[in-house]
Amino acid sequence: MPNVYYDQDADLDILQGKTVGIIGYGSQGHCHALNLKDNGQKVMVGLHATSRSRENARQAGLEVADVDEVTRESDIVMVLIPDHVQPTVYRESIQPNLKPDTTLMFAHGFSIHYKAVVPPANVNVSMVAPKAPGHRMREMFVDGIGVPALMAIQQDTTGDAKGVTLAYAKGIGCTNAGVLETTFKDETETDLFGEQNVLCGGVTSLIRMAFETLVEAGYPPELAYFECLHEMKLIVDLIFQGGFKYMRYSVSDTAEYGDYSRGPRVIDDHVRENMRRTLRDIQDGTFAREWMAENDEGRKRFLQMREEANEHQIEDIGKELRRMMPWMNPVE
Ligand code: NAD
Ligand code: MG
Repeated sequence: MPNVYYDQDADLDILQGKTVGIIGYGSQGHCHALNLKDNGQKVMVGLHATSRSRENARQAGLEVADVDEVTRESDIVMVLIPDHVQPTVYRESIQPNLKPDTTLMFAHGFSIHYKAVVPPANVNVSMVAPKAPGHRMREMFVDGIGVPALMAIQQDTTGDAKGVTLAYAKGIGCTNAGVLETTFKDETETDLFGEQNVLCGGVTSLIRMAFETLVEAGYPPELAYFECLHEMKLIVDLIFQGGFKYMRYSVSDTAEYGDYSRGPRVIDDHVRENMRRTLRDIQDGTFAREWMAENDEGRKRFLQMREEANEHQIEDIGKELRRMMPWMNPVE
């Protein structure tokens, strides 16, 4: 069992008299900045001169400045801009302004693990990676609930990197739920593996293929949507609450028998081999190199894949059906 830290293991006083610079004001950035401010910390938000987020951050009562200035003023610099822009912003605006003994922090290990960002030896490098989308995390904080996080120390020059990192985790509310200690390597590789094989890639490919199979066999796409996509949430909620066992207890015995007898035929050893291959691509850096090159080359293939995905029949059918269910708060 890895170390898990809670409120009593973290000391907010460590941040006393220190300035926390939050670079970026997106999903994670707005949440970290506001939670720290609500916990009495001195926060500055670093954004580029033309950022549309500047006004939002100011209206929320936060001090806003250029990334260069925020880096110079801060004892802790948390990098919360998209992973693919981190190398450029780091090189141009953060690194030249980093004071010795600063704690440079990330919410995901990608840039450090794959060496897209290489910090100098005279700063601490650490991570607090909350396990929830930023907007949800902010809502929960306001309700007095924390979300769990992973933490890791990559470089400890000052000798108190862990104390500072745990204090930060407490400041954004995560020690309230529990903070698991890990490494940049494990966080990065398991995060990428999970989103590719299950959470994003696996789940959408599974739903899409099942939907296509029913439609190809002549069933109404509306039915296919309900059976293969809509009901997914109900099943996942049960799994989330009580594991596979509770979900199986809750569905019919017919569904349960189909699960045991047919599930492994669909997700078979070919899929296991494919998963092992995606893991190897993550471990040997193939995926990271491919994604960084895609960004360097202007994201043409990425944007094309996005467009093709958006044109799939399941998106149109879904939009129509969700409109009939306003109680579920549909997003277009
Ligand atoms: P985001 O896309 O929501 O935020 C983007 C922010 O960065 C915006 O404020 C934008 O103005 C700013 N930005 C974009 N390009 C910029 C540039 N060139 N120069 C300066 N600022 C720029 O990002 P996010 O989803 O909050 O992700 C931030 C980090 O947090 C990433 O490392 C991500 O992996 C990690 N993370 C995200 C989530 C999540 O909830 N989305 C969860 C855990 C970890
Ligand atoms: Mg993740």
